[in-house]
Amino acid sequence: MSDAGTLHDAFVDELRDIYDAEKQLTKALPKLAKSASSPGLRSAFESHLEETRGQVERLEQVFESLEEKVRGKHCDGIAGIIEEGKSIMEEDFDEVAMDACLIATGQRAEHYEMAAYGTLVAWARAMGHTTAAKLLQETLNEEKAADKKLTSLAEGGINQEAADAAHPSEEEEEEMPARGGRGGSAVAVAKRTSRR
Ligand code: ZN
Ligand code: FE
Ligand code: FE
Repeated sequence: MSDAGTLHDAFVDELRDIYDAEKQLTKALPKLAKSASSPGLRSAFESHLEETRGQVERLEQVFESLEEKVRGKHCDGIAGIIEEGKSIMEEDFDEVAMDACLIATGQRAEHYEMAAYGTLVAWARAMGHTTAAKLLQETLNEEKAADKKLTSLAEGGINQEAADAAHPSEEEEEEMPARGGRGGSAVAVAKRTSRR
């Protein structure tokens, strides 16, 4: 009985899991950036890549503050999300639809991370690991901001543009160039301008 693991052991395990997840994301984010057509989306992925590298270092500081070895343990959860993202990138979607899908993939990853860091902050606080709690909270804030940024890109035009390409009105269909949904009627263009 006395050999049973404690919350502290579970905490260190979860840190190793998210440490590995962040490392997987440093490899996946460049692929998401490369597949994005919208310059804003590409730069959102690129800047979150930089942030993610910082998060890896921050986790190393967390391990040090706990006097634990810096070590990762394969994170199946994020691996699954990345795997699904790869399948999407292999699909032949039009450019805006692909951007909308890349945002969906990115947000799945951010929400996974937000759940993980939310738990880690709460456990660190409960156990009085104040340095770790502070560091983990900084990363949690970055993940939330990254998620919000993706929402604003989706709702700031990408979703609507993709939706317009999926369901052009009769009138637009006639006037639109043969391929892609970025042209369209004057009305459609005006609508889009107002959304940007
Ligand atoms: Zn502890
Ligand atoms: Fe992260
Ligand atoms: Fe993230």
